[in-house]
Amino acid sequence: MHFSAEFVLDMCRQKNLPVSAFFREYEADGAGISQEALDQRMLEILQVMKESANKALETPLFSLSGMSGGFSTKVWNHRKENSFLGEFVLGSVAKALSVSEVNASMGKIVAAPTAGAAGILPAALLAAQDKWELEAQELLPGLYTAGAIGKIIAQEATISGADGGCQAECGTAAAMAAAGLTEILGGTPEECFHAAGFALIHVMGLVCDPIAGFVEFPCSLRNASGIVNAFISADMAKAGVVSLVPFDEVVSAMYQVGKLMPEALRETALGGIAATPAAKKLEEEFL
Ligand code: SF4
Repeated sequence: MHFSAEFVLDMCRQKNLPVSAFFREYEADGAGISQEALDQRMLEILQVMKESANKALETPLFSLSGMSGGFSTKVWNHRKENSFLGEFVLGSVAKALSVSEVNASMGKIVAAPTAGAAGILPAALLAAQDKWELEAQELLPGLYTAGAIGKIIAQEATISGADGGCQAECGTAAAMAAAGLTEILGGTPEECFHAAGFALIHVMGLVCDPIAGFVEFPCSLRNASGIVNAFISADMAKAGVVSLVPFDEVVSAMYQVGKLMPEALRETALGGIAATPAAKKLEEEFL
C-alpha cells in the first residue's frame, strides 16, 4: 500500500496511535534501529533547526551573493512595536527568515523538506516550545508528524520547486508544520491531516520564481508567510473546521497543478518575480 494519508490514518486507527507514534515506529523499523536511537537523531536535527532559527535574529546576515539579507533582524527588532501580528507571531516570522538567511549564506540548516523552504518547520516548533515552555523532547511528536506529511507528499507528488512550483516546497513545509503543530496542540490524526490540507490549499498554484535563480527572494518571504499559514491551518483544524477534500486528493491536485505550470514558473528564473525588470537588473548585478 502507498504511504498515503489513507494508509497512515488507517494504521493510526488500528493501533490507536497518534500520527507521530505510528511514524516513529514505522521509520525506526524501516531504518532497522531502535525508536530511542531515532529520537536521538531527531533531537540532533532539532538542535540544528534551533541554531539556524536564532542565528540571524540579532545580527544581520547577508547571502553569499550579497543580493539580500537582514530581513530577520528587522522583523525581530520590530516585534514589540505596534503591529498587526503581535510579538509572538512576528518573532516566529523572524525565525523563519533567519533560517532562510542562514541557508542563503551557505550556513547549516535542515532541509524541511528542502533548503528553500527550511525556515517554516523550525519556526513552528520553536513557537510551540516558547508558548508552552516545552522541552526539546516534547517537540518530537511535532517533528515526527511533520515527517509523515513530508513523506506522503514526496512519495505521492513532489517537494521540488523545479517540478511543482513553490506550492510543492513552501506549501509542503507549511503543511508539515501545520500538522506538527496540530499534534502538539493535542489534535487527532484526522485533525492533523485537515491542517496539512489547509496549508497546501492556501498556496495552491504558488509559482517558483527566484531572482537570478538564487534561493533568496522571494524565497525568504515565502518562509515568512509559510509560518503564518501553518498557524492559521493548525488553529482552524483544532477549531473543528474540516477539509471537504481528503488530504491525499489535495496532494494529488497540487501535483496536477504543478504539472500544468509552464517551465518559466518552475525555478528557471524566467517568469514571475524573477522576470520583472527590477529582478533582471539585480540578476545582471549579482550573477
Ligand atoms: S521560490 Fe522556488 S526556490 Fe524559492 S523557496 Fe519557493 S520553490 Fe524554493
